[in-house]
Amino acid sequence: MSASLSQLIEEARSTGTLSGLPKSNFIDGQWVDAESGARMETYDPGTGKAYADFAASGAAEVDRAIAAAEREQYGRWRDVTPQERGAILRRAAQLVEENAERLAVVETLDSGKSIGEAQGDVAGTARVINYYAGLADKIHGETINSRRSHLTYTLREPLGVTAHIIPWNYPTSTLARGIAPALAAGCTVVAKPAETTPLTALMLADLFQKAGLPDGVLNVVTGTGSEAGAPLVEDKRIRHITFTGSVRTGVQVGQVAMRNVASTILELGGKSPFIALADCDMDRAVDDAVWAIYSNAGQICSAGSRLVIDRAIHEEFVARVVEKARGITVGHGLGGADVGAINNPMQLEKVHGFVERARERGRTVLCGGETATDAENGGGWFYRPTLIDNVPSDDEVIQDEIFGPVLSVQVVDGIEEAITAANCTDFGLMSCVYTQDVSKALRVARDLDTGQVSVNDYWANGWDVPFGGTKLSGIGREKGTEGLEGYLQTKGVSIRIDG
Ligand code: ADP
Repeated sequence: MSASLSQLIEEARSTGTLSGLPKSNFIDGQWVDAESGARMETYDPGTGKAYADFAASGAAEVDRAIAAAEREQYGRWRDVTPQERGAILRRAAQLVEENAERLAVVETLDSGKSIGEAQGDVAGTARVINYYAGLADKIHGETINSRRSHLTYTLREPLGVTAHIIPWNYPTSTLARGIAPALAAGCTVVAKPAETTPLTALMLADLFQKAGLPDGVLNVVTGTGSEAGAPLVEDKRIRHITFTGSVRTGVQVGQVAMRNVASTILELGGKSPFIALADCDMDRAVDDAVWAIYSNAGQICSAGSRLVIDRAIHEEFVARVVEKARGITVGHGLGGADVGAINNPMQLEKVHGFVERARERGRTVLCGGETATDAENGGGWFYRPTLIDNVPSDDEVIQDEIFGPVLSVQVVDGIEEAITAANCTDFGLMSCVYTQDVSKALRVARDLDTGQVSVNDYWANGWDVPFGGTKLSGIGREKGTEGLEGYLQTKGVSIRIDG
């Protein structure tokens, strides 16, 4: 009988760790340490203390993992029927659900997020695996009837061995939303989780093996970006790279991929506008604006990090957001606070640096703007929900992704200015508009240069809706049926049939 959520939390809080955590790479169905013997520690951001260690891998382990994936790609995995691929994914989703509490507690310990958010992430992980399980046996080409003399058709084939580079903010579901369509499409996988959140990827790989996935089809190599990530994306045997992370690293990865003419899906963050027009339902908009930015302590690429607000309602709206922001409790993810920790101290410093510089430029910080400690733990990397009011469009807190709980406000007069302000950055991931006027909603949805737009409900899109960015926010789409397309290539076949 597996331990209950409260037992797991009790163990984690009393001992500072959990028993039975994975410790090694998962390569070719085996737990494999780094040849060098090197290890790294992972820290609980809620206490700031190391709580587990894992393999610090490099080129040798990456090579082994790619060799296994390549062998399976052109071997056993190719012969597994689409129905069986779907069945394996469904069993994996079920195992995720059965192990949801443990996965969620480990995700909280690794990432710092609140247990409620971690549970949401794990539930989403099961959902997205199930979603692609259902698509595995619905992959088909077409016949092209342009010439009577030929039978012409297309085959939809897997791209080959795929690499998945995962960030630390949603370690479990970001991995799942890439590997589930890859496996459904018939690709094999080598994944590298972020060095601050390596453990749930290893746990997922174990569950996929238990679900019946052949050894070598899904491999997880842990280590740093430069030691383990770089050799993975540089390898010629990798035919596709799914990368989620910073623009800087994403551009580097994209360049490397192009050297090998490997395809990419790059999801590189955002600076997403939350537009509230003068006629919006203020209660709903205020609530949603708060959780669009402060969920997961703002460490979400699609966080609503800019409030684009009509002057007519600016004062009241901002006052209400500030009041709610001040009421948000911040603390250890397993301690019941609304919002957990910042994932790592460098990130905490980066977030605070943005706010400090804004203050130096004379910007008005209406709440937050300071680190916080969890008194019960006596440590941890926390930041208070922060709002910087009335900022001009060219300011760095409008233009740059802060990736923390910092909301920057742009005041506008009317819908035209709102659209211009919303489109003023180099990013184009998420956006929303709150209005009661359907024409205004449709107009704004048409004119926002972002991959997603939602109306009157910020986190409206599910796993069935394509997700990705315009401009520097990325290329390619994950989720939805398009998410599967990203792992397939078309082969055209023409057969002369007139003798
Ligand atoms: P952050 O700066 O927030 O850690 P990154 O974009 O650097 O974000 O990291 C996202 C993921 O990319 C992590 O898994 C990291 O280890 C990996 N990574 C970093 N540098 C490289 C690289 N040169 N090649 C491949 N992966 C990398």
